[in-house]
Amino acid sequence: MKTVDELTRRFRLQGLRVTPQRQAIFRLLHGVDTHPTVDSLYEAARAEMPTISRKTVYQTVHDLETMGEVELLDVGTGSIRVDPNVDRVHHHLVCRQCGTVRDVLLDIADLRVPARYRREFTVEAVEVVFRGVCDDCASAGPTAT
Ligand SMILES: [Zn+2]
Ligand SMILES: [Zn+2]
Repeated sequence: MKTVDELTRRFRLQGLRVTPQRQAIFRLLHGVDTHPTVDSLYEAARAEMPTISRKTVYQTVHDLETMGEVELLDVGTGSIRVDPNVDRVHHHLVCRQCGTVRDVLLDIADLRVPARYRREFTVEAVEVVFRGVCDDCASAGPTAT
């Protein structure tokens, strides 16, 4: 994900307004690999900037997605997550207990849909999700949820 300054410049080039609220969101997303939900992003932004609205956060995330600066990810944890790591093709490890999503870089060039399915379907992207339990959850033991 680009720096706050770079994003500010790109937003302005697109004719989009850049407010301090939006810059706070850029800052929160820069360099993170935690895949925050939009709601948790909102909570974090509000801690810095109590006047920020949920709508601003949603709109900013939406604009970032339109510009290809983030990807919105649905890995079955119940909410959409913001993935700022768009520079490298990667896949995900998802903890089924706490919903943590981590990046994993791996080569899946050999993973192909068998030809008979490809006849009726054009594959455009492949996403691999590894499901399991993260170390934090594993050491906390099984929880009664
Ligand atoms: Zn976990
Ligand atoms: Zn990711």
